[in-house]
Amino acid sequence: MSAKTKLPTGQEAIAAKGWLGAHRFLILRRISQLFFLGLFLLGPWLSLWWVAGNLAGSRTLDVLPLTDPLVLLQGIVAGHWPEMTALIGAVIVLAVYALIGGRVYCSWVCPINPVTDAAYWLHDRLGLPKGWQPKRATRYWVLGMVLAVSALTGTIAWEVVNPVTLVHRGLVFGVGFAWAVVIAVFVFDLVVARRGWCGHICPVGAFYGLVGAKSLLRVSARNRQACDDCMDCYAVCPENQVISPALRGKGDETPLILSPDCTNCGRCIDVCSVDVFAFTNRFDTRVTAPAGQPNASEAA
Ligand code: SF4
Ligand code: SF4
Repeated sequence: MSAKTKLPTGQEAIAAKGWLGAHRFLILRRISQLFFLGLFLLGPWLSLWWVAGNLAGSRTLDVLPLTDPLVLLQGIVAGHWPEMTALIGAVIVLAVYALIGGRVYCSWVCPINPVTDAAYWLHDRLGLPKGWQPKRATRYWVLGMVLAVSALTGTIAWEVVNPVTLVHRGLVFGVGFAWAVVIAVFVFDLVVARRGWCGHICPVGAFYGLVGAKSLLRVSARNRQACDDCMDCYAVCPENQVISPALRGKGDETPLILSPDCTNCGRCIDVCSVDVFAFTNRFDTRVTAPAGQPNASEAA
């Protein structure tokens, strides 16, 4: 019996679901990232001030305040007590990400995500080595350092180097240092550390991961009995250490991906040719049983 030939990552899903079906969430995420970036550029570029400000702090239709809670936290530890509007804006943002998953910010909103995804794509095509792989906890140390530096200097320290803020400034005020930082992130992920920036270093991702640790929206490997071990989900997942507990769980062990590191990007759903994964809520622990057997969750 001849062994099944392994197709390049994603090809099985394309063959089974078509190109669009195998890229649904990737396309939606790019639209979402462009949408949020575009909202902030409408004012400076076209004088349409539906949204004034940037991802650090904004006001929509002159009514809805939104504040990046990490920026607010840095301001507080730096000794600057925020105005009530900024506090309300941060509570709104915290509530949304606590519900849908903090790292949804990383995969659906952050304009740096396409840059790091592009670096990963090129890294894969060139067959480069993984490179330096700092511990996943490094980003929490960076987050702690950011808060410590803010407290010691009385500044909102991360905003000085935050690539997201710099991209926004670059697009509004023209090219300059901003693009050097974006290129540095790209080169870092390409030649220094594969998936290094978002997966190991960025304190914003660390912060939002903590915010969404108990979020309602989750990915489930509900159909895990259908898995054919192609490993494509591991190849595309930016945080692939989160997959095994759900995918390799036995019986009624939860099929939910519960790690706060999961970005809810949906790539595992796209790339799986046998539709193992689906979005659901954290209370939905159903597992599809092999044909002819009751579902594990029903049998329990
Ligand atoms: S869940 Fe299994 S079949 Fe689906 S992409 Fe992952 S390894 Fe492949
Ligand atoms: S487990 Fe799936 S949704 Fe979560 S980060 Fe990985 S690919 Fe994205």
